[in-house]
Amino acid sequence: MSRPPVRDDLVALSGYHSPQVEVEVRLNTNEAPEPPPPEFAKAVAEAVEGLAWHRYPDRSAIELRTAIGALYDLPATRVFCANGSNEVLQTLLLTFAGPGRSTLTFEPTYALHSHLSRITGSRPLAVDRRTDFSLDPDDAVAAVLANRPAITFLCSPNNPTGLVETRDTITRVLEAVGEVDGLLVVDEAYGEFAPRSAIDLLDEEIPLVVTKTYSKTWAMAGARLGYLLGPAWLVEKLELVVLPYHLDSMKQAAGLAALRFVDAMNARVAGIVEERGRLQAELGELGAEVWPSGSNFVLFRPPIPGDRVWQELVDHSVLVRNTASWEHLDGCLRVTVGTAEENSRFLRAMADILGP
Ligand SMILES: *Cc1c(COP(=O)(O)O)cnc(C)c1O
Repeated sequence: MSRPPVRDDLVALSGYHSPQVEVEVRLNTNEAPEPPPPEFAKAVAEAVEGLAWHRYPDRSAIELRTAIGALYDLPATRVFCANGSNEVLQTLLLTFAGPGRSTLTFEPTYALHSHLSRITGSRPLAVDRRTDFSLDPDDAVAAVLANRPAITFLCSPNNPTGLVETRDTITRVLEAVGEVDGLLVVDEAYGEFAPRSAIDLLDEEIPLVVTKTYSKTWAMAGARLGYLLGPAWLVEKLELVVLPYHLDSMKQAAGLAALRFVDAMNARVAGIVEERGRLQAELGELGAEVWPSGSNFVLFRPPIPGDRVWQELVDHSVLVRNTASWEHLDGCLRVTVGTAEENSRFLRAMADILGP
């Protein structure tokens, strides 16, 4: 038996992995620490009971897109939904990048932006941020003008650093992107935890989309639902590549039900932001270098090697993301803000590891 070879351009790639270890406190994938309220689960169960299982779902997901749009005062025509914001990103790449075209990221940033670029046949180009992980707008503009990427990615708040882009950086990159007939994608997966957003820059005549997800803020990582906000003409073009009926009826119902619990979501976000401050302050007191965060996680560099701290945390049954050997992130670890109790366990373990 012969085995067909995978595509030549995939041979050198390794898939995207987030290592899991059996532990009591999991603070490694930026999920919400608590599920949505029980009323949500009930609302979904009721909606699912009434589903027409023998019928294809509403292909245009019009009810869901209308409800999402209403959160931002935008019509459904300016909202696109998919199975997680990763699929939103993939759909954008398939439509606007692909073979013969390039994409641009500013590193370190979310690994999926370059990874999805590769698997869609686009050529990912990367420019480094400053050593403090902020982005020099002059560097960013120069890179856009020199490389003329089909898609430029900004992640704000940035994963894995937590930094929020300045307004000036976003507007200047946007202007440069317009000059090269490109598209600016601002990934706001963590937008609700941040003090500012690019959403108010959206306009029919501006080549900008903002991508969002139910996975973090809405505590629905299990549902795989994400969306983008952008110009109606662009949303229409995405229909060229998206699979028919890609969004199943259950998911549409769950996404719709979630929006009835905006207050609970906001309360969760406020609680996480408060706990984030506690984590930052106490990590600082323990001698770690701590980066500002507009997100639901904190990047820090312990005063002893990150790999060692990561392993000792596992020994304390606490899992954080080990970014210590990632390019640019030498010795750093990323901890997701958990429940108050989980954060206390993490901090006690850290004190134990770093203490005398
Ligand atoms: C978690 C995350 C996402 C979410 O992806 P989903 O497919 O919606 O779960 C998107 N972008 C960034 C930067 C993230 O960290």
